[in-house]
Amino acid sequence: MYVCGPTTYNYFHAGNARMFVVFDMIRRYFMYKGYEVRYVQNFTDVDDKIIQRGNLEKMDPLALGQKYIDEYFKDAQALNILPATVHPKATEHIPEMIEIIQGLINTELAYEVDGDVYFAVDRFSGYGKLSGRTLEDMKAGARVEVDERKHHPMDFALWKKAKPGEPAWKSPWGMGRPGWHIECTAMSLKYLGAGFDIHGGGGDLVFPHHENEIAQTEGYLKGQTFAHYWMHNAFLTINQEKMSKSLNNFFTTRELLEKNPGEVIRFYLLGTHYRSPLDFNDENLGMAQKGLGRLQTSVRLAQQALDRKGSAKNEELEQELFKAAQEARESFEKAMDDDFNSALAYAALFELAKTMNGYGQEHPVFSEGLAKAQGTLIELGGVLGFDLLHPAQRQVENEEMLAKVMEIVLQIRSKSRQKKDWEMSDFIRDAFKAQGIIIEDTPQGARWNIKKF
Ligand code: AMP
Ligand code: ZN
Repeated sequence: MYVCGPTTYNYFHAGNARMFVVFDMIRRYFMYKGYEVRYVQNFTDVDDKIIQRGNLEKMDPLALGQKYIDEYFKDAQALNILPATVHPKATEHIPEMIEIIQGLINTELAYEVDGDVYFAVDRFSGYGKLSGRTLEDMKAGARVEVDERKHHPMDFALWKKAKPGEPAWKSPWGMGRPGWHIECTAMSLKYLGAGFDIHGGGGDLVFPHHENEIAQTEGYLKGQTFAHYWMHNAFLTINQEKMSKSLNNFFTTRELLEKNPGEVIRFYLLGTHYRSPLDFNDENLGMAQKGLGRLQTSVRLAQQALDRKGSAKNEELEQELFKAAQEARESFEKAMDDDFNSALAYAALFELAKTMNGYGQEHPVFSEGLAKAQGTLIELGGVLGFDLLHPAQRQVENEEMLAKVMEIVLQIRSKSRQKKDWEMSDFIRDAFKAQGIIIEDTPQGARWNIKKF
């Protein structure tokens, strides 16, 4: 699989996160089904936006690109996105790009004008086959500035002549840098070869990025198929509008992670089929938190029962649990086999959790059936990238619970002080201090905090 990765001039936003999480889920499901997956996701680390941002921040654009590559890995890890088999960077593949561009010039699919190189779209007969557009439509609809140097208004840059102060590399056409589309051709061919299985990205990449990738790659390969399947995720939206850096209606994943565990964000992103738009708001995120919490609680309660020794066994319930585990796996696979319907796959998990909860109440000791059901729930949750046995969310729940308990403690202490029961008031303070929780009296009332050393 080759998936178009981020342009590294900022932290990635929640919309980008949707794309990374969706393809990570697809990859994990293939692995579950026994496929060996070679997964390539690039970094576009040189581009107009990176250069602009570098100038703005008075930072070398290539260093800026590297900075956000490092940041990508932190957020990706928080969302439990597996590292790709290869994460190639555009700037490390310039010679490969030059070789392909030269090949295209040699067969007259590309031409050079004064240090720039363009791809000649009307020389590739399949142009438009992915997006279903014809060159005629495109010409009519195009608001492309008329550029006298281009043979056709839709011709796109493979190589851009260097402008002063920009990063540039040596090439047969002088100093310059690659266009965006050619990067993905060079890196996918290098790491996967021609005719690989799946090429993915967000829906905005169908045209022109992927259309152009096909044209230049299949042109270069003299008609050989570039990728067999193309998959595109729908957008994450805000008020039904695409979340994007250019509309400035985005939240970075980093910002979201300050308030939400990564697993909750992931659960939210996979709760809608990847080809349907998904609207971002606090309510939806809150529902995801509850949903994931239900699965985690179920696993936890089952674990408590499993840890208890006991011999009583209800055969009927045992059979029910084995059956529920089997059925959950079948419904899960059926949903995922139908174009990776993770939303429907969730339903299978909830159903299984429900049966387990019923059992826990009836018969809370170890049983083969419960172990099977819990194991299945953990395994299938893991296929979607959730570690249900070790939830990060519980930490947040615990913190919230502690805050509530401490509020009550402070009220009790305040009441004892009103009654001038200093002995009780001091006892409460000292007892908590011994546990590392400091209670302080301030003019605004008592406060508490946890000793940090
Ligand atoms: P960019 O860094 O803008 O090149 O985007 C990286 C990836 O995220 C591309 O595959 C985009 O198609 C995808 N993407 C960008 N915005 C969104 C969005 N709002 N929802 C889903 N995917 C998006
Ligand atoms: Zn790409």
